[in-house]
Amino acid sequence: MIDFDWIEPTTIPDTFKAMADYGEDARLIAGGTWVTLVLKQGLLMPSALISLRRVPGLDQIAYDPADGLTVGALVTHRMMETHPLVRQYYPMLAETFGVVANVRIRNQATVGGCLCDADYASDPPATLTALGASVRLQSATGERRVLVHDFITGHYETIIKPGELLTAIHIPALPTGGRGIYGKYRTRSHEDRPCVGVAVVLATADGACSHLSVVIGAVASRPQRVPAAERLALGKPITEALARQIADAYADAIDPLDDLRGSGWYRRQMIRVLVRRATLQARDRSATQ
Ligand SMILES: Cc1cc2nc3c(=O)[nH]c(=O)nc-3n(C[C@H](O)[C@H](O)[C@H](O)COP(=O)(O)OP(=O)(O)OC[C@H]3O[C@@H](n4cnc5c(N)ncnc54)[C@H](O)[C@@H]3O)c2cc1C
Repeated sequence: MIDFDWIEPTTIPDTFKAMADYGEDARLIAGGTWVTLVLKQGLLMPSALISLRRVPGLDQIAYDPADGLTVGALVTHRMMETHPLVRQYYPMLAETFGVVANVRIRNQATVGGCLCDADYASDPPATLTALGASVRLQSATGERRVLVHDFITGHYETIIKPGELLTAIHIPALPTGGRGIYGKYRTRSHEDRPCVGVAVVLATADGACSHLSVVIGAVASRPQRVPAAERLALGKPITEALARQIADAYADAIDPLDDLRGSGWYRRQMIRVLVRRATLQARDRSATQ
């Protein structure tokens, strides 16, 4: 049995104080779906768990047409799946969170926890990266904003520093004529983590592509982008041939990993199929603005 203190601060300053008092031996806990697993496995032996659940204001979702969506770190996956503002303005976000695990996990898991545990086999980071989302990191001495693309640096690694708390995620407004899609490909059970996840954000003007962002999740230590492949589409109509060319460029550029959900070779074939399919599906979707 691991012996640790349980701390429940009720303000952000008190949270920073608890983090400072216990230092790096303490661990923050939000939904606890990851922390409880690693505790049980003996992989984590904290001197204290600092629960964020009683800190007010971190479970809100707000939308501004010019600025976009602001999501508190404690917003659960289920809230993202069902919230009317998310469903109306960012349907791909609601779809992405709606395919994570099962409803029991989604009721508990938080957006901040998902980004901070930085498991490569996750769904939301690919979509958040494709949407150009950033995180707000606060500490006792200040705050900074970092793109999700730069926040996750490797397997279970982020740039968060000791004493920092992720308090919110900001998702900018979609480009004019923008829409997106997330495709999750599983190889085991329906509730499993992704073997490959493909997030596509696309905007068109007069039938030609004005913006394309394609991000592949679960195939490497962090979400993968191939900007040169995205640029192939700019100014052109998204045809079957162009979607195939973009998909081939992604499949050729990424060096996918092997795990129990699929070999690197298999993942490469699936990237080729799924990028083409998701790009065409995004093209055929109505713009959300
Ligand atoms: C059975 C199961 C199935 C799953 N399937 C999927 C799946 O299909 N797809 C998928 O994407 N994910 C899946 N997951 C992962 C799940 O989504 C994550 O475990 C969850 O998002 C983590 O959020 P949490 O709030 O529970 O984090 P916690 O367990 O509370 O914390 C996770 C980590 O983040 C840190 N942390 C939490 N909040 C903050 C904060 N605000 N600031 C700084 N650090 C913080 C904690 O200290 C800890 O290190 C699955 C998990 C389980 C258990």
